[in-house]
Amino acid sequence: MSVALTLTEPRPRKAAPRHLADLDLAGCQSVLSEIGQPPFRAKQLRNQYFGRHVGDANLMTDLPAAAREAIGEALLPRLLDPVRLDDCDNGETVKAVWRLHDGALVESVIMAYPDRITACVSSQAGCGMACPFCATGQGGLTRNLTTAEIVDQVVNCARIAAERGLGRLSNIVFMGMGEPLANWARLKAALRLITDPVPDGLGMSARHVTVSTVGLVPAIGRLAAEGLPVTLAVSLHAPDDELRDELVPINTRWKVAEVLDAAWEYASVTKRRVSIEYAMIRDVNDQPWRADLLGELLAGKLVHVNLIPLNPTPGSRWDASPKAVEAEFVRRLRAAGVSTTVRDTRGQEIDGACGQLAASVREAGSPSTAGAKPGELSSTGAAS
Ligand code: SAH
Repeated sequence: MSVALTLTEPRPRKAAPRHLADLDLAGCQSVLSEIGQPPFRAKQLRNQYFGRHVGDANLMTDLPAAAREAIGEALLPRLLDPVRLDDCDNGETVKAVWRLHDGALVESVIMAYPDRITACVSSQAGCGMACPFCATGQGGLTRNLTTAEIVDQVVNCARIAAERGLGRLSNIVFMGMGEPLANWARLKAALRLITDPVPDGLGMSARHVTVSTVGLVPAIGRLAAEGLPVTLAVSLHAPDDELRDELVPINTRWKVAEVLDAAWEYASVTKRRVSIEYAMIRDVNDQPWRADLLGELLAGKLVHVNLIPLNPTPGSRWDASPKAVEAEFVRRLRAAGVSTTVRDTRGQEIDGACGQLAASVREAGSPSTAGAKPGELSSTGAAS
């Protein structure tokens, strides 16, 4: 089959507006001095933004009222314009669609569980990896997100989770739109801001952050060298190169064995258990012999397998595996000594489940809701 892999970075058409999450403390102070504000305001702003998840200078009561607008314009422009907020699963799953300054659309999903609240965030608008079962992959790559656009999704998700009474955001998974390791420099800076203590960052635990990748081998090495104990998730989806070449086209560049070697190296450097993602696709990758082969590859390693029931995407010829087939796959992996669970399927009704995120595609045919204020957003789903 023919695939269109995008490994080069397309140039953003227009630079994103300057935001404090793209600046360090000194950079923030120098912008403040340009607009005649004292340097100590940098710490106030960073405390409000990273510590309290307030992104609007007009709401920062510790700033002089007369200075709020100028400070907001200089350092806190609205990066993510909310286009839609939808919820389902009794309000425990919320999907946000954001419009960026240049019109690109990205999505984030909040999932509340009894023991944690997870935000699934995007690292790129679109994706260049062209996995044929993934909705995002069908539209190609629009552009990389900036560090501030990544971090601002987390800040907004934390605020929404708190406003809705879901609780405090505890976990971040880079499993939204895009291939995070193809946007390495921005991802790396975002990981720092997510995990640095307030007021330099959001103060979240690196152990509660997961970076999911198709298996860009050199970048897995770079992530390992960062010394941040984030969880690495590898989207394997097939234990053999023949099938993986088709399901995850980048496999034609880095083979199963190389990707797994990089994963084991990651585990050994970070002492973190690596996750293997495996979408269960009926009669495609769910045969007992593939379970056994996967078990052989993973046995004895610091690894956990997450089986994801395939979420069928529009126009796809593929379907999820029957439950009995899935159960047998789990049984064989466990018999090989490999820790395995099946992921719950959150957000299906609102197209917010794994691989369903495709805002740019869907938006083309729906009426524009650009410029909606948060209070005016549509909120649909079982709970409302
Ligand atoms: N580019 C990263 C993040 C993608 S989304 C990566 O590939 O890992 C996170 C996970 O959802 C990946 O494992 C991806 O393969 C999986 N996924 C994509 N489409 C899916 C679908 N239709 N059903 C189930 N899982 C899917």
